[in-house]
Amino acid sequence: MSHVHVIGGGLAGLSAAVELAPQARVTLYEAGPACGGRARSFHDRALDAVIDNGNHLLLSANPYTFRYLDLLGARETLKGPGKPVFPWHDLEADLTWTLRLSPGRIPFWLLRRGSRVPGMKLGEVMALLRLMKADDQTRVADCLMPGQFARRLLEPLAVSGLNTDVERGSARLLGNIVRQTLAKGGAACCPWMAANGLSETFVEPAMRHLAGFHAQVLTGTRVSALKEEAGRIVALETSGGSVALGEEDAVIMAVPSPVAAGLLPGLEGPDEFESIANAHYRLQRPLKPRGSLKQAGFIGLVGGVAEWVFLHDEVLSVTVSAANRCLDWRNEEMLEHIWDELRRALDPLIEGFLPEEMPAARLIREKRATFAATPEQDKKRPGAKTAYANLALAGDWTDTGLPSTIEGAIQSGLAAVGALGFRTAFAGAE
Ligand SMILES: Cc1cc2nc3c(=O)[nH]c(=O)nc-3n(C[C@H](O)[C@H](O)[C@H](O)COP(=O)(O)OP(=O)(O)OC[C@H]3O[C@@H](n4cnc5c(N)ncnc54)[C@H](O)[C@@H]3O)c2cc1C
Repeated sequence: MSHVHVIGGGLAGLSAAVELAPQARVTLYEAGPACGGRARSFHDRALDAVIDNGNHLLLSANPYTFRYLDLLGARETLKGPGKPVFPWHDLEADLTWTLRLSPGRIPFWLLRRGSRVPGMKLGEVMALLRLMKADDQTRVADCLMPGQFARRLLEPLAVSGLNTDVERGSARLLGNIVRQTLAKGGAACCPWMAANGLSETFVEPAMRHLAGFHAQVLTGTRVSALKEEAGRIVALETSGGSVALGEEDAVIMAVPSPVAAGLLPGLEGPDEFESIANAHYRLQRPLKPRGSLKQAGFIGLVGGVAEWVFLHDEVLSVTVSAANRCLDWRNEEMLEHIWDELRRALDPLIEGFLPEEMPAARLIREKRATFAATPEQDKKRPGAKTAYANLALAGDWTDTGLPSTIEGAIQSGLAAVGALGFRTAFAGAE
């Protein structure tokens, strides 16, 4: 039986390891104390609560993610309204509405005032076609048409989906998201979140699956070098010592792009990054939301700094994407500013009021949350195959056709498995 060494225990590495475990001997090397990478949960002492490093939103049109969860029996750990329902609040106009997509491909929702974006004109929808037809040079801003459909839907969708502002973001990457979601109809756009944290949904079930197949997971083990000979990887240098590879053995490198470039000189990958900031507020008691906020469990904000607000029992968590623009803000200043926005947006939608005084709060800035999803960076993404017969690449930064997302990471793990000649469900694998 061949032995596959997976370097990196983020979702790309876990996806590869989970897929390989029934087919090969697997060893996974993770530098950190636990697996999960950029999608992980931990107990925060200041808030005395388990929080995610960042809120993660999935859509029902994420086939590889749902297949991964089904394989692990973890779909039940997700929560969501089960319908394409998106509550919104415009902080500038002090206006709340609910986007309710119709389930099928014919967008009846565009014709219903109570379901669509307030103030939009039907002609603005042409922007969706422009995005889906965009070439690899075009930027999102070149496809948008001025109006509320762009301001209140497409721009927030672009900034959160690409984690890059619309002036620089790749229209091709956003067009791929539109093709897989809005263009397929509301049934493809139902929002889902991890009910009790990312680790419970994505990491712990994978650990149980790997243990069941006697795969070895070495956390706290950093791989520092790959040794090659005659076009093959023949050994790994790790913080736990050298590991010699047999003739049948293979390696999947599922580390972030700069780490991969360090391990494999000459490898080109994305080298510009965008940050995401997440503000977490510890409440005295769970909120009692009403209407569509209660149904969805989250709300999108426009016209301010906060973009998505997620309700988790006694913690309110807020996402700010493309957050390099906030790097100059002091943490306390940013937390206070967002708290003020939350009070303005949520007070009309909950029973009672949020307190005027900001509760205990924590700001987590992921400086290299994703690669900058610009046309230039997109062109730097390599495929899963490498010049080495027994080495494949995985990671959300490889050429998945998607921006940095859970779906892209999981898909990339499968592509790497296919590139090494193992069985995989990835449709694009050779
Ligand atoms: C704050 C935030 C919010 C996000 N929101 C969303 C969202 O709403 N929806 C969505 O779909 N996606 C979202 N994403 C993106 C998603 O989290 C990532 O695309 C995905 O987790 C990337 O997985 P990965 O395995 O490719 O990389 P990583 O998670 O970076 O995994 C790489 C792993 O390799 C390990 N490693 C590094 N060097 C070594 C070494 N030398 N040896 C061994 N191990 C090493 C690292 O410790 C890490 O565990 C968000 C990301 C962030 C940061």
